[in-house]
Amino acid sequence: MKNENILIEADSFRDHLDIVTDEGKRKVIYPKKPKGRFHNARMIFSIILLAFLFIMPLIKIGGHSFMMFNIIERKFIIFGQVFGTHDFFILALGFISFVVSIVLFTAVFGRVFCGWACPQTVFLEMVFRKIEYLIEGDYLRQKLLDKSPWNVKKIIKKLLKWSIFFSLSVLIANTFLAWIVGIDELRNIITDPVKQHLWGFIAMLLFSGAFYFVFAWFREYACIYVCPYGRLQGVLLDRNTTVIAYDYVRGEPRGKLRKNEERLLGDCVDCKECVVVCPTGIDIRNGTQLECVNCTACIDSCDTVMDKINKPRGLIRFASENSIKDRTKFKVTGRVVAYSILLTVLTGILVILLITRNPIDVTILRAPGMIFQEQPDNKISNLYTMKLTNKTFEDVPVIIKLENIDGDIKVIGNEIKVGSNDVSETKFLVLLDKNKMKAMNTPLEIGLYKNGEKFSTYKTTFLGPLPNNQ
Ligand code: SF4
Ligand code: SF4
Repeated sequence: MKNENILIEADSFRDHLDIVTDEGKRKVIYPKKPKGRFHNARMIFSIILLAFLFIMPLIKIGGHSFMMFNIIERKFIIFGQVFGTHDFFILALGFISFVVSIVLFTAVFGRVFCGWACPQTVFLEMVFRKIEYLIEGDYLRQKLLDKSPWNVKKIIKKLLKWSIFFSLSVLIANTFLAWIVGIDELRNIITDPVKQHLWGFIAMLLFSGAFYFVFAWFREYACIYVCPYGRLQGVLLDRNTTVIAYDYVRGEPRGKLRKNEERLLGDCVDCKECVVVCPTGIDIRNGTQLECVNCTACIDSCDTVMDKINKPRGLIRFASENSIKDRTKFKVTGRVVAYSILLTVLTGILVILLITRNPIDVTILRAPGMIFQEQPDNKISNLYTMKLTNKTFEDVPVIIKLENIDGDIKVIGNEIKVGSNDVSETKFLVLLDKNKMKAMNTPLEIGLYKNGEKFSTYKTTFLGPLPNNQ
């Protein structure tokens, strides 16, 4: 009975969230300022990611954005290559490959993405929280400040923090918009009268407000309550997944370190340094939990404690449940192999599609329901429909010529021209001399030229009457 009670107590953390009080109110988390080798590595990685985020929308090549995800106009520019709705297949495959790679990565390395690359964590932990530490001090000072009555010092600190937070939110919102509409359009939204870009201005305000709300107040709630990826961890992780884990075999039974006393307990000195540093307020010693965003702060804290008590580092480390329990090394599971094969196949198809992607796609079909038409001067004509898809930044005027046979082409309507990242449809007649036709079915090769240079040859057939000699 006693053992049962101990087990129930040990598992009691599963019955509640550490960020909610027993009354159901929010428990504000004041994480201790993290420091250590993992934190430094994350800092460097975050700086690279932030530089990428802020600099990319500013880069233009040949007058066009280098990166842009214009979901409104369904126009995407990725590393200078323009993609539109006609590239749906490539974009969809790219997205699926991205999702599979995250699933694979999660199955092997757990929520590494959350701790190292997720914009929410990068901005919150590496930007907003750093400013908070700078203005309000470390966690104990922050707690004290929040509990203290409003006075001049508190008002100045809070106003300073909130105004910097809001300015940063506006900057992030503008950057976010630049990724969507491009830097030129963003400049217009900022500099033109509000009336001219009312929706752009409203979007900027909404984004700024949303970012401020998330980074100043909502914080870890976004990861724990809203993020669907976080919620999927239960199905993505297994006992062989490398997660941030406490080595309970080495650490337990935990207990305070006492001077001049032979230690018969495990290596965990129950200092709770790993708990106070956690931005989601959990105790990693309870095992892998949904709230853990793999920020590595607890590893750094525990390593510092281990250094102080002359014990090896890594009581909390990247490890799988099985490797801790059985003291084994990393194991490749069937699931990892299956995901890897799937990802390799998807990436292979994607690469082939990208390599074979033509800047201008051509389809020429004989008009449905029509066979051939008799024309004056002993000529036979066929009507064709040509669809051109232009995947470049320039408008392209196109000239078509018969390449393998004497005959005429009459374009119906104006000159053939297809706009940038657009699709055009043109009808034209091919006229052949009846006497020169040797069969009912004559192969045709139609050359397509832009600026005097042939960029494609399309093969089709021409239908005519049965020649007299057959
Ligand atoms: S920091 Fe390390 S030693 Fe301290 S409580 Fe956490 S696991 Fe135990
Ligand atoms: S348990 Fe450790 S890694 Fe997970 S969120 Fe807390 S401090 Fe970060």
